[in-house]
Amino acid sequence: MSEKLSDKFNKFQNVFLMEKHRIDSFQKWPYDESVECSITKMAQAGFYWSGNMTDEDTVTCFVCGKTLHGWDPTDDPWKEHAKHAPQCQFVKYGHKEADLTLEEFLNIFSAVGINKMLKDINNIKSNFLARSSSELESFLMEKK
Ligand SMILES: [Zn+2]
Repeated sequence: MSEKLSDKFNKFQNVFLMEKHRIDSFQKWPYDESVECSITKMAQAGFYWSGNMTDEDTVTCFVCGKTLHGWDPTDDPWKEHAKHAPQCQFVKYGHKEADLTLEEFLNIFSAVGINKMLKDINNIKSNFLARSSSELESFLMEKK
């Protein structure tokens, strides 16, 4: 991948589209690179870090949004991903970024984009409802 193209993909850092972005998300992790669930292997299996300083082994899949925690050093990230989210498109392809075909990568890209939009729309909707439910209620009442 050329330097320029990878720069373009940095725009998608907030959705953890690229394996590099997922690796970079880990601020803390209880295990080193010698175990099955190393940071590199977690990122390859689609996980980014969604933990915090007290709950440091929580990760989330960038495609299906499945969150998992309580990892043991012998846990295989791909196997755990498949066990808890067999419907995930990334799990169905079952290989790391470098081994995805262009078509598979684009399908993943679409799935991530759609999930992000749905999430944003739901956030806007719940923010709107939280702020204006009483106004909305009286508006709807007037219409009757
Ligand atoms: Zn997934």
